[in-house]
Amino acid sequence: MIKLNNGVEIPQIGYGVYQIPPEITKECVLNALRAGYRHIDTAYAYRNEKQVGEALKESGLKREEVFITTKIYNGQSFLDACEKIELALKTLAVDYIDLMLIHWPEGDNLGMYRAMEKYYREGKLRAIGLSNFYDDELDNILKHAEIPPAVDQIETHPFRNQKEMQKILSTHQIVLESWSPLAAGRNNIFNNPTLSNIARKHKKSVAQVILRYLYERDIIIIPRSKNENRIKENIDILDFALDKKDIEEIESLNTDKTVFPWG
Ligand code: NAD
Repeated sequence: MIKLNNGVEIPQIGYGVYQIPPEITKECVLNALRAGYRHIDTAYAYRNEKQVGEALKESGLKREEVFITTKIYNGQSFLDACEKIELALKTLAVDYIDLMLIHWPEGDNLGMYRAMEKYYREGKLRAIGLSNFYDDELDNILKHAEIPPAVDQIETHPFRNQKEMQKILSTHQIVLESWSPLAAGRNNIFNNPTLSNIARKHKKSVAQVILRYLYERDIIIIPRSKNENRIKENIDILDFALDKKDIEEIESLNTDKTVFPWG
């Protein structure tokens, strides 16, 4: 668990459902919950919030046992953003959302943030934060926020390890949450020789080494997989530790650049 700046606790390992087709999302989320995940990361843009809500109901777990994050984007005004938040509550079929993020800075960022603050005050959002906010856009929210953002969810993996950004965020008591912790499989990450050697040494998989690296840096991780065995594998990272040399080698892979062509 990681304690956010308002005292709310978020399970450090979550399950991300980007690009999981709605038809299989319920089953995938149920598999993740069976494997022990208690944190699901969705978004309006993923078109599978409804199925995440259905899995939550069908799991038999209590609402307070599962941490749900979702995201709104491109709100054009405070009122428009309020409608987007209402829609998320309705689509997920929940009374409250654990963490709501602005998916990326586009549209009326301050209007969206104000709307999240309103729903936070009403107890319908337990924590609020940002995603893909850097530099001026982050500063602008920090300058105007009455309730400081708890999280910034940004691209973070061994090829873009965000050590500088983590320092900046921590000065504002904002927790770094990694999206694409496995670099979405790009740059042939699962066959990377450096990571493969470390994995062999610990008798773990490359995915587990990457996730462990981020975990040890107190970063929230939300790996995605449709495969039941990999879903289990990605949460099974608590029984080993990286040594100084492993960490140096992993950090030698950092380029400070996105692995996505649109980044
Ligand atoms: P990821 O880094 O989690 O990688 C997923 C890829 O790795 C898939 O191709 C999967 O098949 C493969 N994989 C997963 N586990 C594996 C394993 N153990 N062994 C081998 N291959 C494995 O990719 P992602 O989905 O882009 O990122 C994770 C989550 O982050 C998303 O699902 C979403 O919730 C969030 N996200 C947020 C944003 C944002 O803008 N806020 C952007 C991208 C992703």
